[in-house]
Amino acid sequence: MLKRPAILLVALLLVFLLLGVNPGAAQSSFTVSDNDFRGRGYGRFAAYSYDLKPEMENLVNYGLDRLIKEHARVFGRNVRQGFTVRYRIFGQFEEYAAYSQTRYKKEVTKNVLGYYSPRTREIVTWRQQQTWLLVPTLLHEGSHAIMDELFGAMPFWMVEGSADWFGEPAWAEGNTLKKDKQVRWVRLKKMQEEGKLPSLVKYLPSSNYDEWAKMFDGNVAQGYEIGWSLFDFFMSHPQATKFMAGIVTNRNTEQSDDPSRTFAMYINAQWPGGLPMFEKGWHSWIKLKAEGKALPTAPVTPAKTAPKR
Ligand SMILES: [Zn+2]
Repeated sequence: MLKRPAILLVALLLVFLLLGVNPGAAQSSFTVSDNDFRGRGYGRFAAYSYDLKPEMENLVNYGLDRLIKEHARVFGRNVRQGFTVRYRIFGQFEEYAAYSQTRYKKEVTKNVLGYYSPRTREIVTWRQQQTWLLVPTLLHEGSHAIMDELFGAMPFWMVEGSADWFGEPAWAEGNTLKKDKQVRWVRLKKMQEEGKLPSLVKYLPSSNYDEWAKMFDGNVAQGYEIGWSLFDFFMSHPQATKFMAGIVTNRNTEQSDDPSRTFAMYINAQWPGGLPMFEKGWHSWIKLKAEGKALPTAPVTPAKTAPKR
């Protein structure tokens, strides 16, 4: 997911003959092709048995535009002209699952809200059980597409942590989301007090979901949450942000076989006081955020009960 191979041009035509979800429901059938994407903004959409409303399309385009500007501001890089983010949205979970299986040999559960394929450069998702999750999912995956466009290899925790951070921006923040974020900080603080936060020596070099599952007793969502809080910590101060952007855009990181480890070693070598001081700062940041004492700086983000996306 980190390194993009040459673009594979596949003229793909899949025919689905799917049984409806409800017994007795009519059989639905439709074709899926790479020519289905429509749209004029950054977002290009292919919707199947899903009624994509113009308002939704506008919202996602607005979000993508903001995301691209944020990435340019933080990392000093911009997308190529003509860059687009392609979304395939299915109305039914069964269709989403069947497409994922047929095209990617990927088994999805309802916990996999969506995913981005660097190979085909498309995002695949579905309506969602809780429909409010669709927009954050589209933006979360959109962040992956943008990062894939802008960077080489990246630390695993940051790929997910920053996508969550960028995926639920302040402008899209309703009261539910706001409360959700606060709950997340409080939960992290509780973990810290109980000595349950993972040590960064262990967490930062982790490079896949399986390692997170082991680290958090199967609760992969905690890996996202930690990554998100670390990213927020980096975003809390312009100098820290600059420090982080410097590592991410460094050739040693981008060309590393193990960018997560490279990143951790860089912090230890370059952060004043090394990794222990960095960790201490992060703990203090959690406390400040949980107690609502942190100064409002950059927009803070998300929490989610559902893992992988
Ligand atoms: Zn993700």
